[in-house]
Amino acid sequence: MDNMKTVLVSKSSEANRLLIKIAGDYIAEEVIRSEGAREMHLNKDEVIFDLGATALGEINNDIVALIAVLSFHPAFPEEAFVLQFDFPVSDNVQKALHRPNILPLVTISSPRQGEPFKPVRDMVISYGGGFDSLAAHLLFPEAPLVHESPLGDYSDIVNDIVPDLSDQAWVVKDNMRTLFSIWGLPLWVSVFASSLLFSPRYIISGSEMTGTYLNGGKAYFPRHRNRWYEVFRAIGVDVLPTSFLSEIGNARVVKAHGRIEDAAYCTFIRMKDCGKCSKCLRRRAIRAMLDENEQSLLDDFTRSDGIDDFLKVRPLYYGDVFIHAVGSNSRPSWLKENLSGLIDANASLDFHEHYYLEVFEHFSYPEHLAERAKEGLHAIGMMPFRSEDIDAFQNFKQNSES
Ligand SMILES: [Zn+2]
Repeated sequence: MDNMKTVLVSKSSEANRLLIKIAGDYIAEEVIRSEGAREMHLNKDEVIFDLGATALGEINNDIVALIAVLSFHPAFPEEAFVLQFDFPVSDNVQKALHRPNILPLVTISSPRQGEPFKPVRDMVISYGGGFDSLAAHLLFPEAPLVHESPLGDYSDIVNDIVPDLSDQAWVVKDNMRTLFSIWGLPLWVSVFASSLLFSPRYIISGSEMTGTYLNGGKAYFPRHRNRWYEVFRAIGVDVLPTSFLSEIGNARVVKAHGRIEDAAYCTFIRMKDCGKCSKCLRRRAIRAMLDENEQSLLDDFTRSDGIDDFLKVRPLYYGDVFIHAVGSNSRPSWLKENLSGLIDANASLDFHEHYYLEVFEHFSYPEHLAERAKEGLHAIGMMPFRSEDIDAFQNFKQNSES
């Protein structure tokens, strides 16, 4: 291993802060971002997690190792290299990371054998703020909430909402979005780093089926076998996405509990709803479908060239949601006029009204949590996919208007 590249990882902690630093042979030049395939480089060799008023409990070193990887993975060498921790980690770290598409050629090194991770609580919810995580909270009300937010001078409306939702709700501020030269989390799973700090057996991730199974509304393309889930599982934490519901199903859960006003779904984290971005448009279309008194949300939406361009693209992003939400709303709107061709070209997408039972198996939900979710869904009248829903779902392909 004499000539092998080595990346060194060290950690330090204060009362409410964890700092992890890398050094050595990481890639300092441009690397390709996995999402969007754009070039970026590492800006800073230190990731910081700040828990504010919450004390940082004892954190197992395997968890610290996983958090280091979630933060710096894009800058790790592509060839064989040693990932050397200056603290003891268990064999689980090698087992977790040494796999195709994660770190296929890594060798883990540490001063001595560490203790494998043992959870200190059953679960937490990785709380984003929109319909999906709010529905997860309403289905699992006893689960503590962890909200990840950017460190620094940013206003994040969810930081104000989350403490009112539960007496166990924590905001973790970190600098992950500015670690690389492109603003944003280093990996899609990096958002779970903040939840790992609370040592859960399960991380419930507010999610929805269009992203997990329909390739963002283009066509059926299941990605529940993503290897990152196995990485977490090998360390001892299972990530459980709530992809059994679509965004519309999640909104129905929120609506049934009378909590629509607690949702913050805008692209801009400083507000709940800006009334002019494509994310807010989609959520407003859902709200208008669920409640005729909210039809004005569509009438009042601020249209722009950007929105008109967005609506012209085919396949339309999250088109399955737009098709069902707008198509099953009988009231007239500019959006319905705009999407009439798309709605006519696609059959009814009633699976949005039901839940996808297979998800509990796909993500290895433990019995007690699967049952809990189903009870919560049945209590508000939501039932599993019927056979015709399964057919429509698994054969879904967004048709452009003819
Ligand atoms: Zn918005």
